[in-house]
Amino acid sequence: MTLTERILARAAGKARVEAGDNVWVNADMLMTHDVCGPGTIGVFKREFGMNAKVWDRQRVVIIPDHYIFTADSNSNRNVNLLRDFVREQNLPYFYDVIDDPKGTWQFDAAKGNRFRQFGTHYAGVCHSALPQKGHTRPGEVLFGTDSHTCTAGAFNEFATGIGNTDAGFVMGTGKLLLKVPETMHFRLEGRLQPGVMAKDIILHIIGEIGFDGATYRAMQFDGPGVAGLSMDDRMTIANMAIEAGGKNGIFEFDARTAEYVEARTKLNGTKAAYEPAESDRDQKFVYESVVDLSQLEPTVACHPDPGQRKKAKELGAIKLDRAYVGSCTGGKTSDFVEFARIVRGKQVVIDTFGVPATPEIVHELQTTRWGDQTIWQILVTAGVQMTENAGCAACLGGPVDTFGRMNQAALKCISATNRNFPGRMGHKESQVFLASPATVGASALTGRITDPREYLP
Ligand code: SF4
Repeated sequence: MTLTERILARAAGKARVEAGDNVWVNADMLMTHDVCGPGTIGVFKREFGMNAKVWDRQRVVIIPDHYIFTADSNSNRNVNLLRDFVREQNLPYFYDVIDDPKGTWQFDAAKGNRFRQFGTHYAGVCHSALPQKGHTRPGEVLFGTDSHTCTAGAFNEFATGIGNTDAGFVMGTGKLLLKVPETMHFRLEGRLQPGVMAKDIILHIIGEIGFDGATYRAMQFDGPGVAGLSMDDRMTIANMAIEAGGKNGIFEFDARTAEYVEARTKLNGTKAAYEPAESDRDQKFVYESVVDLSQLEPTVACHPDPGQRKKAKELGAIKLDRAYVGSCTGGKTSDFVEFARIVRGKQVVIDTFGVPATPEIVHELQTTRWGDQTIWQILVTAGVQMTENAGCAACLGGPVDTFGRMNQAALKCISATNRNFPGRMGHKESQVFLASPATVGASALTGRITDPREYLP
């Protein structure tokens, strides 16, 4: 069995499953957020009754992160609906924007969207917050009401996005009927060259198979090249499995996985026990590919989908209006570090926005010093508009007052985010070019799509 088959077999209580089998799977964790949480709760109450209780309080995680720092009253209300439900169900894992469990959330537009407007429990973007808060464990099954739930496959778990109806059912029963996906195998070999990042790996792969090339399939990443990838790198790659239509992306378990998971479960007092999944020697794949990491170059996915692969060095004619670093794909500390290496001591020439994924990342950027400046100060000095209000921000467009949103037609943005379908970051006629934080940094310095190797320190 492949990694995915092994986890699903275990979760279904079976010795073996094969691709195409329909099995009832026990969930280890269910995550929902402010966009889909209210709908999920509505389905749960409609189907299980107004007084129903969730199947397991310890296995439900609720993370407001999407439309948070906005004066839009409907968006603010969604967070309040989550808080009411958490209080009613007495759920332990709710990462609220405010500290008062009986309060109401209202974003203060007068204070502006650059400076912190959240309390001590807030955790930021769900896919980055789940591992940081100790909710991702090898060998487990994670369902989330968000397509990029596949990010947690970096930790050797089966993680996939589900809709509100399925999530309402999981909330009530802890189970879901799943068809076991076929597995595509990506064997990574070699090491990345300077200026090339994990984002380039996944953009290369999606360009190879197309933005629907892995539809309802597992994407398994293994091989000797994985050892050189950090957990942040693996998260970037697994995160974008859905951009090829994948059901999930998954990595093998290794010492680096163990170190991260054990540190985070200990720090947060979450469940520490886990059982990693190993694949069999006779595992069967529907597709096999070997990716030599040393041959990859800075890569860009052009408008209008993540499969429109080009090399950054071929796109110098494309003039940009804006640059953006952020999201569950490109808003991690390591992403900002690589971005800062490029722009340090220089000035961006187009509007450039930086949105860390979580408050912990904000803290790291504001306390890590390079010489006499913190990374945060280096970015601000270079002209980057940084916000302390960690969250999804303009990755998903959002309400019109969202930080970094593309509100005008015909804007072209180079972005470290993960999705570039028309209208994704705001105006439906704007265009998004997906790239690594290093490529975003170099492009912000020139106003054109630029290979970051021209600016390596
Ligand atoms: S950062 Fe973007 S891709 Fe990630 S969960 Fe938020 S909206 Fe979705």
